[in-house]
Amino acid sequence: MAKLYFYYGAMGSSKSANALMVDYNYQERGQNALLCKTGTDTRDGSKVIHSRIGLSKECMLLSDVCMLSDQQLTEYDAIICDEAQFATTEQIDFLAHCVDYLNIPVLCYGLRTDFQMNFFEGSARLMAVADDIREIKTVCWCGRKALCNARYNEHGIIREGSQIYLGANDSYIALCRKHFLEGKLTSDDPGDAARHQQISLEELQEEDQ
Ligand SMILES: [Zn+2]
Repeated sequence: MAKLYFYYGAMGSSKSANALMVDYNYQERGQNALLCKTGTDTRDGSKVIHSRIGLSKECMLLSDVCMLSDQQLTEYDAIICDEAQFATTEQIDFLAHCVDYLNIPVLCYGLRTDFQMNFFEGSARLMAVADDIREIKTVCWCGRKALCNARYNEHGIIREGSQIYLGANDSYIALCRKHFLEGKLTSDDPGDAARHQQISLEELQEEDQ
C-alpha cells in the first residue's frame, strides 16, 4: 500500500540530497521516479534540484505534475517532491490523490516552519494529511537539535518580513529554539561550536537507532 511521506528538517539538513539519493535508488532498481519541486523557490532559475553537497538533477515543477492525467502518472513508480513547504494545500491534496487512487508512493521533502516559526502552507497540510512524518535532523551551533530557520543579515536576526525571501539561501541559519528566541547566531567561541556539532550529530543519530 502506497503512502504519503513528509520528511522535514531545518535548513542545511540535507533534504535535497536525500531526495536525490532516493531518486537514484529507484533508478538503480530499474524503476522510474518522478522528481519534482515547487516553483516558488526559483533561486536556481531552472527546473533543477541542487543539494549543497554538489548533487543536482533536472526535475519537473509540481504545478506541471498536477496537470498530468492519472494515466500519465501511473507510468511512475514514485513521486519525489523537494521544497514541499511551498506547495499549496490543493497541490498536497493532489499528491494524496496519487497515493490513494493510483497507489503511487509520494515522498515530500521540506521545511517545517518559516523564519518566524510559523508553518508554511505545504508543511501544514503535510503535517495534517501525511501517512508517515519523519524528521531529518541537524544541529544548532550549541549542539542542540536545530528547529528554527533564522533569517539574518549583518545586523543580526531578522524578525519581520515576507515569508518567502528569494535568492538568499546564505541569509538563513538553522538554530535551536532557545538560540532562535535569544537571536544568538553563533557561539562566542568558534572552536566550541565545532566540537559541539561533531558530538551532537553522533548523539542524534544514535537516538534514531
Ligand atoms: Zn542553540
